[in-house]
Amino acid sequence: MELDEALALIRRVPDFPEPGVVFQDITPVLGTADAFKAVVDAMAQTLTDVDAIVAIDARGFFFGAAVAYSRGLGVVPVRKAGKLPVVGGKAAYSLEYGTAELEIPAGMIEPGQRVVVIDDVLATGGTAAAACELVELAEAEVAGITVLLEIGALGGRGRLAGRKLDTLLTV
Ligand code: IMP
Repeated sequence: MELDEALALIRRVPDFPEPGVVFQDITPVLGTADAFKAVVDAMAQTLTDVDAIVAIDARGFFFGAAVAYSRGLGVVPVRKAGKLPVVGGKAAYSLEYGTAELEIPAGMIEPGQRVVVIDDVLATGGTAAAACELVELAEAEVAGITVLLEIGALGGRGRLAGRKLDTLLTV
């Protein structure tokens, strides 16, 4: 399947999770074999000279794990606070009301490694920025951020200014 055809499967869901918000639902891309392959292959092609993948909780796990497998790399899950048994570092990020924390498992990234952060959707960029902070806390280098979909109006790209950012689709 062509990449365009795969990306056309993303559904816009009005008023989810609350009134006024249009949720970009990537589930059909996951559930359609040819589309999932097209998208994972395209995400994997954005990587150059990478030692490890960091995948963001929760939908980033699907894409991060598949890209890592296809490139013969390990995948390190960055999780919402309280889920990891051995925490190596935490970083706060902002939600619409208040803040939350992301955590990285201890000892999975080595100092100096080149790491690509993978998620499904970039909105305000707070989540991806926190994941980058965790990579840098581990004294590794953020070689790039790769997402399936960027919601342009929410300004995430600006928040990640100066970093290599690859997105398959911007809406
Ligand atoms: P940000 O921190 O505002 O950039 O939000 C990005 C995070 O929220 C990602 O981990 C996404 O999985 C999730 N997210 C935000 N908006 C959407 C959406 O419209 N569809 C799917 N996930 C979203």
